[in-house]
Amino acid sequence: MTVLVTGGAGYIGSHMVWELLDAGESVVVLDRLSTGFEWAVAPEAKLVVGDVADKELVGGVIRDNHVDAIIHFAGSIVVPESVADPLGYYENNTCKTRTLIETAVHEGVPNFIFSSTAAVYGGAGLEPVREDARLAPESPYGLSKLMSEWMLRDAAIAHGLRYTALRYFNVAGADPRGRTGQSTPGATHLIKVACETALGKRPFMKVFGTDYPTPDGTCMRDYIHVSDLAAAHRLALERLRAGGKSLVANCGYSHGYSVLEVIDSVRRVFGRDFDVRIGERRAGDAAAVVANSELARRELGWTPQRDDLDRIVADALAWERILTGKNSARS
Ligand code: UDP
Repeated sequence: MTVLVTGGAGYIGSHMVWELLDAGESVVVLDRLSTGFEWAVAPEAKLVVGDVADKELVGGVIRDNHVDAIIHFAGSIVVPESVADPLGYYENNTCKTRTLIETAVHEGVPNFIFSSTAAVYGGAGLEPVREDARLAPESPYGLSKLMSEWMLRDAAIAHGLRYTALRYFNVAGADPRGRTGQSTPGATHLIKVACETALGKRPFMKVFGTDYPTPDGTCMRDYIHVSDLAAAHRLALERLRAGGKSLVANCGYSHGYSVLEVIDSVRRVFGRDFDVRIGERRAGDAAAVVANSELARRELGWTPQRDDLDRIVADALAWERILTGKNSARS
């Protein structure tokens, strides 16, 4: 049996591929390499370059490789971009996921794991948010993911497919063995930006707002190590294969750090200061977004191994250095 990982050349997908290979799984990656990198795909996995909505291609991949599970990461993830181009996001995230689900049903693939997001909740508060909280996405990105969750729910009822949708909080860090990491140029995520600034790839960075209703006035997020997230997917896969029911679960550590706490951690781990400026609020940022992750812990038997901000930052920083080497070798 083989696991099909869509978006396996991207940030989270490439970690998933290693997680599966480390567990002895056979893996085929489907990625059109629009934002991912061929070199990010583990050499032991088979890479098919193509689109998740290409039914003929995907059907062939499923049959040829005896795929019994799809882990679907491929999609667009930039919130402001989704506000500027909602139809593009609904096309790429929602319509293409619909086609992929249709192909899975047609080919009789029994297990489907979907990459969802805390953005389905809209503005959460300081309290950890549970899966049954009000769903009120504030961006086309969040809605494009929520619609995909709902399609899965309905397809599962009608066609017997079983699925797990994992709602990610703030994914950060990199493979502790340095095999892959966040490699997207121009990435906007806080830990990535702070590591780039520490290493001199950016002259300075900005804190987006210090007047939020949080203890230090900066936004709080639940930062989760990408390897713990990949482990949650592997557990979800085992559970589905064992006949587990469909599930929607948060993936976070259930506690948050402020922007200033994250920057302090980067300073501590890096060992030197760098230029941090106070800026205006960024449009659309909620004051705090923290997961209640009891469901994932209980249902998946998930016990995070890397719930330590300095460790997340150390892995992110180590990857940033490796990436510098890779890029200079290529230029
Ligand atoms: N942030 C910041 N400076 C940056 C990037 C991010 O102050 O250069 C803040 C951002 O305003 C938010 C938090 O860091 O409050 C996390 O942002 P990120 O983009 O990493 O994730 P999001 O929660 O928006 O998905």
